[in-house]
Amino acid sequence: WSELFGNSYPLSVEIGMGKGKFITSLAKQHLERNYIGIEKFSSALIYGLRKQEELALLNLFFLREDAENLTEFFAEGEVEQIYLNFSDPWPKERHAKRRLTSKKYFERDAQVLAPNGRLEFKTDNRSLFEFSLKEAELAGWDVVNYTFDLHHSKMAEGNIMTEYEEKFSAEGNPICKMVARQKGNT
Ligand code: SAM
Repeated sequence: WSELFGNSYPLSVEIGMGKGKFITSLAKQHLERNYIGIEKFSSALIYGLRKQEELALLNLFFLREDAENLTEFFAEGEVEQIYLNFSDPWPKERHAKRRLTSKKYFERDAQVLAPNGRLEFKTDNRSLFEFSLKEAELAGWDVVNYTFDLHHSKMAEGNIMTEYEEKFSAEGNPICKMVARQKGNT
């Protein structure tokens, strides 16, 4: 990645970026960092590509890929920050393993995350959020901060709204957010 970006700036990844408002805004704000947005479907990714082109950002690339293949694209400890925003809830119990915040996915994320790296997750889905808090612990992560009402908490400082966040908070739904790191790291 550092060859592609032409520098060794810290790398942040958003998994399931959708139309990409969050990651393009973040990349615009932080030219001293590199960003990769991962999205499974071209139909959503195309919007991100348009924004990227308009803003001519050199610190942002996209991968049309499944989060399942994360370790194929990043070396061990290469990623400093992982963002998961409004990940699909997969409400049926038999689909729980497909949730991007299930233990299996936390363990996979841990493989590419730097020792001092962080994962941030936002959702309006309270039961998915509670599930995710438990799965993070089970996977050996420390939840360092969380809130069930982001927009009325101290964690709101510097918050960048995603497309789904704008929609759900306009409907009056509180937004949950957690920040986690791997146990034993500062
Ligand atoms: N993050 C955006 C937001 O907050 O506005 C989009 C949220 S949308 C509910 C979830 C997105 O994650 C969809 O665009 C979906 O295609 C993508 N997605 C779901 N599972 C994925 C996976 N396994 N790998 C990559 N992208 C995935």
